[in-house]
Amino acid sequence: MRIPQCNPRLAYLGLRKEIDAAIARVLDKGVYILGGEAYFFEQEFAAYVGAAHGVGTGSGTEALHLALKACGIGHGHEVITVSHTAVATVAAIDLAGALPVLVDINPETFTIDAKQVEAAITPETKAVIPVHLYGRPVDMAEIIAVAEKHGIPVIEDCAQSHGAVYGGRKTGAWGTIAAFSFYPTKNLGAFGDGGMVVTSDKALADRCRSLREYGWGERYVSVEPGWNTRLDELQAAILRVKLPHLDKANMRRREIARRYDHGLKKSPATITPVIAVDRTHVYHQYVVRHADRDRLREFLAEKDIGTLIHYPVPVHLQPAYAGRVKVPFPLKNTEKIASEILSLPMFPELSASEADEVIAAIAKFKD
Ligand SMILES: *Cc1c(COP(=O)(O)O)cnc(C)c1O
Repeated sequence: MRIPQCNPRLAYLGLRKEIDAAIARVLDKGVYILGGEAYFFEQEFAAYVGAAHGVGTGSGTEALHLALKACGIGHGHEVITVSHTAVATVAAIDLAGALPVLVDINPETFTIDAKQVEAAITPETKAVIPVHLYGRPVDMAEIIAVAEKHGIPVIEDCAQSHGAVYGGRKTGAWGTIAAFSFYPTKNLGAFGDGGMVVTSDKALADRCRSLREYGWGERYVSVEPGWNTRLDELQAAILRVKLPHLDKANMRRREIARRYDHGLKKSPATITPVIAVDRTHVYHQYVVRHADRDRLREFLAEKDIGTLIHYPVPVHLQPAYAGRVKVPFPLKNTEKIASEILSLPMFPELSASEADEVIAAIAKFKD
């Protein structure tokens, strides 16, 4: 594609010398698992988020899985989240042995409907996972009020919201514990897999540290059954180079979003995302809605413009999860928008003229 939907290689080229040096530093030092880089990056990233502790993991899915296990969640428990999310959110609940309970979204914000969360709570409910989808912070005050009323932890899925701010605090600093992904195309991406749990609860952080290494207390002695999920030392070194550039990259994403918002006014059949005036949207994705989405997508592809669909099939309708999730209410909004959503090209290195080309191409689409 001439204009790809995303292009993580450009982030490498922009910082090539520093990243190459960081990789060489790790290889030369000779400590390849949980050496200094992972340790320092955990502290630097937790400080960036505004939480006391960070525990690196092998991926974002594993960060969610680890957070759930550290909160004591397993068989016989229910965890409430959305069906309109990356399958990873639901996979992590299933992996922990609990039952995912999937509720609907607000079609304007694409994020969890707090009223349905409250209505879905049962005596078995042990956590709620709000997902800051596309980089737009969820109304955390509402979710925390419901969770506190019922005495359950809030596990934030921040895989798409690095740096997003709600109510003066970053996403990841609101919940009991939060999970981040450093998948290459995320707002803060490694050049491989990686993830992190952040929390200000020391006991929870300690349990995460133990569980991610076989449940060790002292080395080689497991105090509870754990497994292995650690942030790779090379990826940690790369992420330490990239973290100081995250705010600038998010600012650039917001500039592109403003350009799309303005330019797409000429194409009223293309519904642009609601602007979040009271919070900082970091536009992991810029998602529009269009009644004739599939034809629009083909039309753009013919013009060599890449788009993606996040996500084409809601999790409750995916073959693997039939019978493995509970859907207490009809997911009307989730099912409706799945056929309308389209993620336009969005990455910090996308130029203004490329964004204008996308806008001009959409204006030419006849519906
Ligand atoms: C990417 C993503 C994950 C999973 O992260 P991985 O690092 O790919 O395992 C979880 N939740 C959401 C919302 C995501 O976008």
